[in-house]
Parts: sequence; structure tokens; C-alpha cells
Amino acid sequence: MNADLERIIALQKLVSAAHDAERRLAEEPEREKALQARLDSARQRVTAAKERLAENQSARRTVEKDVAVHQGRLSKFREQAMAVKTNQEYHAVQKEIGFAQGEIKTIEDKILELMVEADDLTATVKRTEAELASEQKAVDADRRAMTTELEAMKASLERIAGERAEVVRGLNPQALAIFDLVLRRRNGVAVAQASGGICTVCHVRLRPQVFNSVLRNDKIIQCDSCQRILYYMAAPAETASDSVSHSAQ
Ligand SMILES: [Zn+2]
Repeated sequence: MNADLERIIALQKLVSAAHDAERRLAEEPEREKALQARLDSARQRVTAAKERLAENQSARRTVEKDVAVHQGRLSKFREQAMAVKTNQEYHAVQKEIGFAQGEIKTIEDKILELMVEADDLTATVKRTEAELASEQKAVDADRRAMTTELEAMKASLERIAGERAEVVRGLNPQALAIFDLVLRRRNGVAVAQASGGICTVCHVRLRPQVFNSVLRNDKIIQCDSCQRILYYMAAPAETASDSVSHSAQ
């Protein structure tokens, strides 16, 4: 292969790798935000569960006060029952006693209901707290992994910059100028593989004589359509797809 073409292909690989690393680095704030959102949402679930439990406890305190009021009335009626003079008075007091007992029974049922609900709510608080703890662990691990990855990206960018300078030093300035121009105009991809008579990036069919020249890989040839620098590489061996179809059986 032509040495400049080889360097240009190497240069494109370095440019693309640097681009990927930079993009990954630029994603860091978003990734951190997503991690924070996971924690916030787990914390909100704990807060909501605790609020429901507190509401339950406050409702229970209220009905317990009601029960005390009705019990007070009940003892008052029982005292009155001792002192009644007539049958009519007796029946009236008994009616009040029955009513107060009914009220107390209703409220005690309500208290029981609230106690059962409190068990569920307490379990929910514990569950959401455990979920928060495990989410915190997972997020810490993700943060550590992200830090490691970002350090690796930075190191890789430095290495790429060094290799890029090395490749550029050996490259014909005119070829480099073409590369840089196409790179700017074509979204960071200045090189295209030609295969089956077409440019595999813009998918436009090459003129036969252009494709034939590209097959030789002996000079810088640009795609007529996208201007990318073309090179040819033989398709992977047929045996690879054979082995896939065998293993798929
Ligand atoms: Zn093209």
C-alpha cells in the first residue's frame, strides 16, 4: 500500500478514537446527573414511605383521643344508670351506654386497621431504606468505574496526540491538507473503504476506472461524491461466515 495512504488510514483511526474519547469525556456531566437522579429517586421513595407512616401514626393518635372521650362518656352513663329512679330513665341511659359502646367498638376496629396498615408501612420504610442503601452502593461503584474510565480516556487522548503527531510528521503535506479539509467538511470522517465498486460511506457507485485504481491502493484517490479518501481492503474470509452458520445449527 502507498505509504501516505497507509498513514492517512492510521491518522483517521487516531482521529476517530480521539473523537470517541472526547465525546465520552463530554458525556460525564450527563452521566453524573443520571447517577444523582437514581439516588434522588431512591431517597424520595424513603421520604414518601416515612410520610405515610407518620400520617398513619397521627391518625391513630387522633382516634385514640376519640376513644378516650367515648370511654369518659360511657363511665358517666354507667354512674347515671346506678342513680336512675324510673324505668324510663333507665332505658334512656342504657340507650346512651349502647350508643357509646358502639362508637368505641367502631373506633377500636379503626385502630386495629391502622395498626395492621402501620406494619405494612413500616415494612415499606425498611424496604425503601434497603433499596436506597443498595442504590447508593451501585452508584458509588458506577462513579468509581466512571472515574477509572475517564482517567483511561484522558491517558488515551494523550497517547493518541503523540501518535498523531508522529503520523503527521511522516505524511506528505498535500495529502495531509486533503485529509484535513475533507475531515472538516465530512463530519470527522475523511477516509472511506471501497467495496464492491461503491464508496461504503456515502454508498455512491464509483466509476469502474476509479474503483480499479482504488483496488491498487497505490495513491490518494477521492470519492467523486463525498471526496473522502478511498482505500480497498479485501472482505473477511468466507470461512468466517461458514463457521457462524455451522455453530448456529
Ligand atoms: Zn463517498
